[in-house]
Amino acid sequence: MNLIFLGPPGAGKGTQAQRLITRLRVPQLSTGDILRKAVADGTPLGQQAQALMEAGKLVPDEIVNGIIDEALASKAAAGGFLLDGFPRTVPQAEALDAMLERRGKKIDHVLSLQVPDLDLQQRLSGRQTCPKCQTTYGPQSPPKQKGICDRDGGPLLVRADDQPDRIGQRLKEYWSKTALLTGYYGSRGVVRAIDGLGTVDQVEQRIVAALAG
Ligand code: AMP
Repeated sequence: MNLIFLGPPGAGKGTQAQRLITRLRVPQLSTGDILRKAVADGTPLGQQAQALMEAGKLVPDEIVNGIIDEALASKAAAGGFLLDGFPRTVPQAEALDAMLERRGKKIDHVLSLQVPDLDLQQRLSGRQTCPKCQTTYGPQSPPKQKGICDRDGGPLLVRADDQPDRIGQRLKEYWSKTALLTGYYGSRGVVRAIDGLGTVDQVEQRIVAALAG
């Protein structure tokens, strides 16, 4: 199954993606995670992206398109994939269409996670992330031990772009560029709107029901 997770920052894409990949046995292709790793490793890609990411701005389409083209070519993605954080602009969605067409593939479902802006701001400003495995924690999904990642025992950090002044910029990018994708995919009948409020388990159940229905 080939899926796209659409939704504003803080809607729960990463958290739900981690659950869904176990359930569906497909890889999560997250441009945000790949870019953060490149920044941490100090690669040329990371050096290009770092300032934009920290400012809460989108990195250029050509950069992320290249990342996804490479990820789609991997053996792991041959039997299906879950795109998390890509596409984020109409030109990225058009590039993705071309990449999939070349490989004789198509998107089966676009899961559109819906959370009001006020809740997003609250979630993002209370969010901590594991720099090693990228798992995020917040009021809805706290770690078992305060400040420590459940998965690998490492210390949790607040992402630079989760600082209060960057959150507004990220939401602005979302509403001016990414929200247009609901219309882009709408005519294909693949968009499944999911209420993203409630517990992580409740949202997961809604997603599972949407994929089955
Ligand atoms: P995320 O973890 O998905 O919220 O992404 C963190 C940051 O990485 C974003 O705020 C952007 O700076 C950058 N980024 C991730 N995915 C994309 C994308 N598809 N297009 C442009 N920038 C992206």
